[in-house]
Amino acid sequence: MKKSIGYLIVLFIVIICYFFFNDSYAVLEKEVSSLDNPYIEVHFLDVGQGDSIFIEINNSKTMLIDASTSSYGNFIIDYINSLGYDRIDYLIATHPHADHIGSMQDIVLEYDIGDIYMPKVSTNTKTYENLLTAIDDKNLTIKKAYKGVKIIDEDELDVSILSPTKDEYDNLNNYSAVLKLTYKNVSYLFMGDSEEEVEENILDDVKADVIKIAHHGSNSSSSLEFLKKVSPTYAVISVGEDNSYNHPHKEVLDRLEEIGSTVYRTDLDGNIIISTDGNKIMIDKEKK
Ligand SMILES: [Zn+2]
Repeated sequence: MKKSIGYLIVLFIVIICYFFFNDSYAVLEKEVSSLDNPYIEVHFLDVGQGDSIFIEINNSKTMLIDASTSSYGNFIIDYINSLGYDRIDYLIATHPHADHIGSMQDIVLEYDIGDIYMPKVSTNTKTYENLLTAIDDKNLTIKKAYKGVKIIDEDELDVSILSPTKDEYDNLNNYSAVLKLTYKNVSYLFMGDSEEEVEENILDDVKADVIKIAHHGSNSSSSLEFLKKVSPTYAVISVGEDNSYNHPHKEVLDRLEEIGSTVYRTDLDGNIIISTDGNKIMIDKEKK
């Protein structure tokens, strides 16, 4: 009898050790310092007061969400070229403000382009007209960014548009294409410049490990209620150093602290790369 209890204790210790040391039983969202096979690599580019997010999918396909202001075209192109790509499979203009589509004309002209998604709203700026001309010159068509559209719908990878959920908004920011990317057990949420009204209207599951904070950290977005729903382990703010809007606003940083998110900022960290194999997350930043 005593012997069998001894065996049980040994067995118990072996099981504990197995779960403790076995890597395949890693806790989800666990940050690691290296990844053998990152399937998704999201590069939040340091493009001043604007947004530009380049995504590598399985080292083969690419997505670009926004292209910052007109002065960052060469920077974005050099960055993409340095990774060895000559095609953008999915190009997304979240909304037609100059800090998001400023260099998109350059991108359209430079690369072989697959699908282009934009919300159905227009402005009469030269930047916007130039982008439409470039798209037209290359005989490309624009797909409407709208709730329910699936940009990628594969077995383990899903990229969906959660907003716009309406045809008309008072504010151009609220037309922002909001995207959720999920690969296996890891999700990213890209908010564009959407504001509180949009946060209230999204009824999909917004829970994500990583959030690209809306509107450069403005307090007109990122309500505490919404951030609690997303419950991100990591929050990325794309923002220019000493910008005239005082972004990111203190209220937003306080809310992120309250929910326990780790914050990365392009003005402080430079380019930020958040990669995943679907279970683990690796973070690399330019400025250590
Ligand atoms: Zn913006």
